[in-house]
Parts: sequence; structure tokens; C-alpha cells
Amino acid sequence: MVSGISELKIYFRMINKQANLLTDQRNSPSYVELKLWQGCLICGIKGEQQKMKKIGVDIDGVIADSQPVIIEKLNRFFGKSYSLADFANFDPQEMFGIDRKQLDEIIMQKELEIIEEAVPLPGSVESLGELIKDYHIQIVSARTSAYLGQTSNWLEKYKIPYHGLSLLGQHDKRSRCLDLCVDIFIEDNKKNARQISSCGIPVLLMDAAYNQGLLPQMVTRVYNWDEIRDYIAKYLK
Ligand SMILES: [Mg+2]
Repeated sequence: MVSGISELKIYFRMINKQANLLTDQRNSPSYVELKLWQGCLICGIKGEQQKMKKIGVDIDGVIADSQPVIIEKLNRFFGKSYSLADFANFDPQEMFGIDRKQLDEIIMQKELEIIEEAVPLPGSVESLGELIKDYHIQIVSARTSAYLGQTSNWLEKYKIPYHGLSLLGQHDKRSRCLDLCVDIFIEDNKKNARQISSCGIPVLLMDAAYNQGLLPQMVTRVYNWDEIRDYIAKYLK
């Protein structure tokens, strides 16, 4: 399957190039034949893509290294100097004097800055570039849908490939994952991971200071993108 779809795409590009050279001879047999071949190849590519297994991927904390940016914003807002390690047993009341709801509101206010200032998590760009050759990649994030443009610009800026992008504006990803028929999901939020796995979808949880502790049976902790690729190559065929 891997070489199948890659070869189809190569043939498609070759034929497209030839057809472009003949655009001023649209009625010629050669041009018509090339267009027919193009149609067949498009059907072939679509068919191969439908057969591909689907990987659902979160953005923040999985593709984008958003946590350092969030911490920097909170430190600046509250005049603190916490580091990433301080978030191991994170208690917003103790650290910032506010409850979780108030904290989420502040993060929401800074959402656009966080989107634009985060850089990719090490290995995410290269790994998705490899995985997309063999798998269908669906990005599913809790980000506000109003930031769809900024999010797709960010993904383009860092050359992160994908087939689909959903910004849900809320954390419950279960129905979207089921609609998309994802075969596995990569997440960093423990509650999301528990919910998604409860639908029978295995989840890889990217390790972070804020998601420590025991995990449900279908959730596997991973520490980097190399591990994600190894796991997928081994279990998602
Ligand atoms: Mg996340």
C-alpha cells in the first residue's frame, strides 16, 4: 500500500506535466488520453486513501510545544517565575490564587498569542511527514474554530502535513473521533485520552508534567515522536 499510493502520485504528477504541455491542443487524442489517465489515477489515489488507517492528532502539547508559551504568559500575567517542572502537581489556586475556570479564561484570552508563538514539538514535523505517506492524518483540536485561519497558517509555516483539520472549541473529542473513524489518537490531555479510549479507540498520551499518574487500559504513555512512530508501525497496519 505504501509504495502503491506514492507511485500513483508520482504517475499523476508526470501525466499532469505532460497534459499541461498540451493545453493548447485540447482536442488532440494525446491530450484526451492523458486526461483519461489522470481520472483513473485520481480514483486510484482516493481508493488507496480510503483504505488507509486513520490517525487522529491533537495540536497543543503534541504537534505544538505550547506549554512553555502558556507558562510564560501566566508568569507575566501574575508576576511569577514558575518553570515547567513546577506544573507536575499543578494547583492553580495555590500557584496563582485562582480556580481552574478562571485560569482557563485567562488562557483563552491569550489563545491567539499561544497559537502564533508556539514552535513544533521536536520530531513532530518530520514524523508527520513520514506518517502521511502511509496513513490518513486528521488533526482534531479543542482550539476555538475562530482561529482556523491562524492554525492552518501555523501548520503551513512549519510544513506540517495533514488531510483534515477540526477545531472543536471544546475538549470533548469523542463524537468527532467516531465520525472520522480514527484508528488511533495522539493526545496530551489525560481527561481527553480517557474519554476517547472509552469509545474503543486506542490513545497514545504524550508525556507531560501535567498528565502524570495511572492511565486506563487503552491509553499508552509515550515520551517522544520516535516512540509514536515505532508504536504505530508495530500496531497499526
Ligand atoms: Mg493538547
